Amino acid sequence: MTAKAELIAANSTLHLQMQEWRRDIHQHPETAYEELRTSNVVAERLQALGLEVHTQIGGTGVVGVLRGRHPGDKHIGLRADMDALPLTELNTFAHASRHPGKMHGCGHDGHTTMLLGAAAVLAHSPDFAGTIYFIFQPAEEMQAGAKRMIDDGLFERFPIAEVYGMHNWPGIPEGHFAVHPGAVMASTDGFDIEIHGQGGHAAMPDMLTDPVLVAGHIITATQSIIARNLKPTSSGVISITRMVGGSAYNVIPEHVSLHGTIRTLEESQRQLIKQRLQQLVEHTASAFGASASIRFNPGYPATINRQANAETCYQVASELVGEGCVQWNPPPSMGAEDFAYMLQQRPGAYIWIGNGAAGESHALHNPHYDFNDQILPLGANYWVQLAQRLCR
Ligand SMILES: [Zn+2]
Ligand SMILES: [Zn+2]
Repeated sequence: MTAKAELIAANSTLHLQMQEWRRDIHQHPETAYEELRTSNVVAERLQALGLEVHTQIGGTGVVGVLRGRHPGDKHIGLRADMDALPLTELNTFAHASRHPGKMHGCGHDGHTTMLLGAAAVLAHSPDFAGTIYFIFQPAEEMQAGAKRMIDDGLFERFPIAEVYGMHNWPGIPEGHFAVHPGAVMASTDGFDIEIHGQGGHAAMPDMLTDPVLVAGHIITATQSIIARNLKPTSSGVISITRMVGGSAYNVIPEHVSLHGTIRTLEESQRQLIKQRLQQLVEHTASAFGASASIRFNPGYPATINRQANAETCYQVASELVGEGCVQWNPPPSMGAEDFAYMLQQRPGAYIWIGNGAAGESHALHNPHYDFNDQILPLGANYWVQLAQRLCR
């Protein structure tokens, strides 16, 4: 057993410092792979704490390595994301974004700060046995920065055996956590359907093959996949979000396209939906004498925790706030998260920390959203306790 590092108290010097760091990052949001200032700030802070720092991993990614005072063979990765959204902030407080069209609307400024806070505590008293890797990734929003770090050798360069992530969650009260033993976030895939018919005069449909009518049947048929092919106990969404076709009242077009997204929580159901969608698109079109094809734009896989790792996270969170303030296995989100790629490589878990109850925190990606500075110590303390628990 090792001694425990002191936790960060509310309104302590470190808490107030973290609030400054967080607001500074918030004022200077940077989007995917352009997190130059942010990653410099992160690297400088880690260096100042005495960590071994590696930069430019997967673009702007940073890894700080901290070895415990005691020998040990545990190698634990703790991950935060650094990127902002291409969104114009509507907040008017002093630390609002200084870059029009860019905003920390998902709280990654807070995630980065909480992990820096944990690094500060653990560097000050490295009373653990093993090595902690503080992973700061670029481009979580839509551009798979986690995957790019992996492709750039994250797990070959560093012998990380387990990885952990955390996201703030509006709707969960301040001082609370939520932990899932399995799926936390959904997979996401885009698709483009192209329907080709034979266009012509709208008054002479008997001479033509109408791709608009085919599109209507395809739209209706797709929902049978959710209702009749997906396991009743599984979750899935198919949404057609965009239709393009035609240009006049009296002309049936040659071509219509449909575009949308698929979300699931299981890889098997993800494959099933894609396969059924392709069959329905091709065969529905051919039944009407038209032709159609579908192209998928694969997005993030589902974020799936390993139960044993999730149980450890639950215990650590419960020790901090009490069991009554940690939800176990609430409904997952159909949003997506690229930490999924890390969990495909290594066991671990990704948890939610409450950013404030509904009405107290704006939703993620809302132009009025802001990360709740009151939870900075709790999030950092969670990382500290988790690291110490895993490396004792
Ligand atoms: Zn986001
Ligand atoms: Zn996010």
